[in-house]
Amino acid sequence: MSKIIATSRTHSESGLSIKPLLAWFQSAPASHRVRLIAGRFTNLRRLSSWPLLALCFITPWLSWNDLPLVHLDLVAKQFRFGAVIFWPEDLMILTWMMMAGAFGLFFVAMASGRLWCGFSCPQTIWTFLFIRLEELIEGSRHKRLRMDRTNIAFNKTIFSKASSEKILRKLVKHSAWLTLSLITGITFISYFYPLSEMASDFLANDLFVGNLSGSGLFWIIFIAGFTYLNAGFLREQVCVHMCPYSRFQSVMADKSTLTVQYNEQRNDCIDCEVCVQVCPTDIDIRDGIQLACIACGACVDGCDDIMAKINKPKGLISFRPAETNIQHALNVIKRPRLLGYAIAFLLSLFLLFNQWESREGINASLERDRNSLYRINANDEVENNYSLKLHNKTNQSLELVLLINNDERRVFSINHQRYKIEPGQRQQFPFTITQQENAETKQVMHENKKAITIDIMSIKNDEVLGSIETSFIAPHQ
Ligand code: SF4
Ligand code: SF4
Repeated sequence: MSKIIATSRTHSESGLSIKPLLAWFQSAPASHRVRLIAGRFTNLRRLSSWPLLALCFITPWLSWNDLPLVHLDLVAKQFRFGAVIFWPEDLMILTWMMMAGAFGLFFVAMASGRLWCGFSCPQTIWTFLFIRLEELIEGSRHKRLRMDRTNIAFNKTIFSKASSEKILRKLVKHSAWLTLSLITGITFISYFYPLSEMASDFLANDLFVGNLSGSGLFWIIFIAGFTYLNAGFLREQVCVHMCPYSRFQSVMADKSTLTVQYNEQRNDCIDCEVCVQVCPTDIDIRDGIQLACIACGACVDGCDDIMAKINKPKGLISFRPAETNIQHALNVIKRPRLLGYAIAFLLSLFLLFNQWESREGINASLERDRNSLYRINANDEVENNYSLKLHNKTNQSLELVLLINNDERRVFSINHQRYKIEPGQRQQFPFTITQQENAETKQVMHENKKAITIDIMSIKNDEVLGSIETSFIAPHQ
């Protein structure tokens, strides 16, 4: 029974060339032959990545007061996190958050190198997820290598057994990758376009005109395709060539930064190549410290396993300070730049909480009537007209009352004191302040301009939500 190796000539006879597809099925790049290993750093990555993944995938399903728990609503220009809503006016909070995040990352990068890359970066977490699926479906690295060497061949109308198995396993693997990518795409977009809205648009056959500028489905497919390409194919190329963090990370490192290193003075290496086989960036750490290393610790786990098997002490490959010792690395006082990052991080956190504390539930501004400074009413009293602009930044309806807090002589009255404003609503309310006689002294105010402060109080909680400074103008006496 002669087997025919599938070639372009064979398929060109049918007028359709599937050579590129077959070539793709035939073998995978070296990075696709990563061997998964067990060990302390692998466990540590599981410990950091599983909670992050759970948080990422579960959050869109949670709600708060019948609304999505997290909603980054670009259309309404509001970011909602449970009871807290951020508006464009809260830009300073976002700024301090980003500053704290950046200084925190600088601190971690200087103290322990690319710890973020190896243990928390979505690129690494998704890549390891894809590798785990690959291993589950196609088998161990050894089996995958053997399968990749199998040429796809068929006899007249049927594929050989090995070819069928190869095609089936590859199809199942890519289907699993695509499914995970699609779930990732839906999850990511659901932070902007809540699942409930997405589902009802889908059921109404209206996914194309969702609230993401009419392109909900486009963005889901875009993110799914991006995930499939990044975690399935590009993998370490993103870390090595595309990630900006990897570029400036080396600038932040000093001689005490922890890096993954091979101890060449020990002479214990048996050249088993496990450290290379487990490396997701396809480097040989025995060649020295390398920029492409994402500090995932897989080679440390792999080599420790080998050392245990040959009864040699672990740590032939380990995390160590680049040029100093661990005592110096841990002494923050002796590393002024590291201390500087720590102080800047704490300062940003302090300013963030300070800004958070001073955040008001409403945004209020007041404008005087530009047409007339004052008016004398039928009772001979002086009146000033104002326009109050209110923005309810909370997710609850607010009932408010306006009170003049520096009216010691009780000569002012507001004609429209109570307001109700719905969550997220911006509304304008005109009102008038009238200057009356003091009930006790029977005198009117003799100032022609008086600074007044109006408190905006929540009726429900009996607390001041905000205050506005303005002035009352009266004719010269
Ligand atoms: S895993 Fe350890 S023993 Fe094996 S090649 Fe790498 S350094 Fe040498
Ligand atoms: S050299 Fe080691 S720590 Fe660095 S990326 Fe490769 S396996 Fe991870």
